[in-house]
Amino acid sequence: MTDRNDELFERARAVIPGGVNSPVRAYGSVGGTPRFLVSARGPIVTDAAGTDYVDLVASWGPALLGHAHPEVVEAVQAAASRGLSFGAPTGAEVELADLIASRVVVGDARPIERVRLVSTGTEATMTAIRLARGVTGRDLLVKFAGHYHGHSDGLLAAAGSGVATLALPGSAGVPAPIAAQTMVLPYNDLDAVRAAFETHGGDIAAVIVEAAAANMGVVAPLPGFNAALAEIAHAHGALLIVDEVLTGFRVHPAGFWGLQASQGEVYTPDILTYGKVVGGGMPLAALAGRADVMEHLAPTGPVYQAGTLSGNPLSVAAGLTTLRLATPEVYERVDAAASVVASALSDALTAAGVVHTVPRAGSLFGVAFSADAPRDYAGALGQESWRYPPFFHAMLDAGVSLPPSVFEAWFLTAAHDDDALGHIVEALPAAARAAAQALGP
Ligand code: PLP
Repeated sequence: MTDRNDELFERARAVIPGGVNSPVRAYGSVGGTPRFLVSARGPIVTDAAGTDYVDLVASWGPALLGHAHPEVVEAVQAAASRGLSFGAPTGAEVELADLIASRVVVGDARPIERVRLVSTGTEATMTAIRLARGVTGRDLLVKFAGHYHGHSDGLLAAAGSGVATLALPGSAGVPAPIAAQTMVLPYNDLDAVRAAFETHGGDIAAVIVEAAAANMGVVAPLPGFNAALAEIAHAHGALLIVDEVLTGFRVHPAGFWGLQASQGEVYTPDILTYGKVVGGGMPLAALAGRADVMEHLAPTGPVYQAGTLSGNPLSVAAGLTTLRLATPEVYERVDAAASVVASALSDALTAAGVVHTVPRAGSLFGVAFSADAPRDYAGALGQESWRYPPFFHAMLDAGVSLPPSVFEAWFLTAAHDDDALGHIVEALPAAARAAAQALGP
């Protein structure tokens, strides 16, 4: 039976490559027809056939407060009525930069003195790397296998997210000399980091790391890993870029850095990157860090970066309102909701006899079909990922929208009330049985 989603997908494929504007949306790894959404409110999304789903995608992270929070929508509408884009500085941008800097503080630790607003996480990490190279006068970049930092050329080596879902080693179209400037190391392996610095220390501009990996499934850093990265990089005159595009302002009022610092693991990133929640569902991202590093950006410094829509007033209004509403109580709610779903997920899979773990980093969690929680990309890829498609479709049939890949985190929001959580919990046992019956490769 075809419905409106099938019709739209057919039309879309005739005019948009793969029918989607971002690869994982195509349901390639789970099969079937992607749901074309027409509206979203609170914890619910509605597709083109008029079907409602309890949503665990949350626009891939931004919707911390739930979809279309009335105050956020009102702020965006008010901003729109004053003008869509000025290409000139605004007072609201200053407020947002101040708010970001003042939130990322734990005790005396305060890694942010300057903030530059951009439009996407890709831009934020791309600029952070150019900045690190400009500051250090070095070219080499260290990244970790399975970490996703957006789709700029040098960052697509062994990247997570869609690159992992599509099982690509990297991307075609990246010139070899650019790929050669990125060293890819196994995650959570400090020996590999030390060895890389012993051999190439004088050439490494920066280490870039997801604050907690969440694009190969959720893989938290081992205790002390992020702090040791800062120490090793700094000992060799390199910078540490902590990518909080996904984790920032989602897992804690001060991001994953703040969560770790509040638990006693305090370290000093030189540059942090933000996206997703910081834009409250609108295109907005940021890079932020120490003044002496950030002042290397144009116009004060020689590292060029610019954007016609940077600091767009509608995006800034959404981001400011979202961060103002993201009180400690919101994080408590999201954490509690995550615990309800994570333990129901584990219980259902255990009852169905499915070998699994539910790895977690703050309120972020996902499922891994392996006996041990993956600690690196090899571990994540080694799981029985073929159990995910039937599990995903059983949930979808029961009215729960999960990320269409086992390599993505599940996102809860402050709007997931008891009804929404109950709906998810009720759907899990049948999905777990579908995973148990899945046929291997
Ligand atoms: N960095 C991380 C950790 C991400 O998860 C993502 C996107 O998922 C990006 C960067 C890229 O952000 P964007 O998709 O806004 O370009």
